[in-house]
Amino acid sequence: MSDNKNSEFLVECSFCGKKASEVERIISGEGVYICNECIDMCNSILEIDEAENAEKVEAPFKMSDVPKPIEIKSLLDQYIIGQDDAKKVLSVAVYNHYKRVTNINSEDDIDLQKSNVILLGPTGCGKTLLAQTLAKLMHVPFAIADATTLTEAGYVGEDVENILLKLLQAADFNIQMAQYGIIYIDELDKISRKSENPSITRDVSGEGVQQALLKIIEGTIANIPPQGGRKHPQQEFIQLNTKNILFICGGAFDGIEKIIEKRTVGSSLGFGSDVKSKKDKSSNEFLSKVEQHDLVKYGLIPELVGRLPVISSLSNLDENALTRILTEPKNAILKQYIKLFELDNVKLEFTNKAICEIVKIAVARNIGARGLRSVIENVMTDIMFTFPSEKNLERVIITDECITNHKAPIKEYKKGDNKNEKN
Ligand code: ADP
Repeated sequence: MSDNKNSEFLVECSFCGKKASEVERIISGEGVYICNECIDMCNSILEIDEAENAEKVEAPFKMSDVPKPIEIKSLLDQYIIGQDDAKKVLSVAVYNHYKRVTNINSEDDIDLQKSNVILLGPTGCGKTLLAQTLAKLMHVPFAIADATTLTEAGYVGEDVENILLKLLQAADFNIQMAQYGIIYIDELDKISRKSENPSITRDVSGEGVQQALLKIIEGTIANIPPQGGRKHPQQEFIQLNTKNILFICGGAFDGIEKIIEKRTVGSSLGFGSDVKSKKDKSSNEFLSKVEQHDLVKYGLIPELVGRLPVISSLSNLDENALTRILTEPKNAILKQYIKLFELDNVKLEFTNKAICEIVKIAVARNIGARGLRSVIENVMTDIMFTFPSEKNLERVIITDECITNHKAPIKEYKKGDNKNEKN
């Protein structure tokens, strides 16, 4: 193939018939010629075809495979303690979402809207865990993104397309599966705009990111750089349709209680209003009354809030919930440690008082259930280091003193061995 740039004025494009003198460039093959204009047209035809193919995706599962909301909730109950309201709301949202996507090619003209979700609640109360567990139960790919690392395209930071790349990676680059995945966007509250009025200076990490997120959340055919970032401008893009991806956004939304309080309490000021009892309401109670315009007041753009129609709040975990988290879920932290010891044929036990002390420390740290693991990790490091090398060790008991005074755990050895040791 040769490039006869304007050299042969007599040559004509075999497709449109234009002469070489009428176009910028003609490329010749064996006995055929094509001009730059026809090449452009062919490219756009191919792009449209690709986009249409991305549009027409069949759901990789049938509606009959999707568990009913009650079943989804009871599956969630096995992994997540408390947060019943959020579990119920999410079960319905997820069921409706997959009902919508498996019904997408139906002939009737009722367009079922996407039920993206926004979860509000303090750190470590289970927002990410809920989204993650849902994806596991539905057998769809799952990706977590942190909204604070994103910036508007063209600025230092990550592009929103990188979120889709993570999902694609979670789906082993199976585009069809990725198009039905779940994405959890954490810290959505941290990209609220700086003031309620549109800013004069560019707000590239706040409103700019919200605008960029809006596009992928509402459904678009996104071009994803397969190696991420903007460092390889020459790389080919992968097209991913985000129409059927379920987006779950989470955030602590510190201070939103005041906005909700102003709306609910403020409106009923006057004779007969029960101001005192309302003042006593905990922030959990206010959070549970959150509405979409509270989120707009907080600094989310109305268009984005409109694309997240399902709102739910999670409450702070109290001592009772934290105790249950330690022991009850299918993969509870204590069960995991017990299993680790069991694999070395040693029985591990935690006394009730020890569990109480772990919970007390976690509550004081005020980071929800996140504190539990680090407290236990601190206590367990020494014994985890030594026990696999100990002969005839049968039982290890973690007492409250191990937690509060860093005392060594009680160790019991197999019968016939007189090394029984109590601390
Ligand atoms: P966040 O609300 O900040 O997203 P996470 O979901 O990441 O919190 O919770 C951190 C960890 O704490 C989880 O991985 C899980 O081990 C534990 N956890 C938090 N909330 C719960 C809960 N309600 N039930 C069981 N475990 C929980």
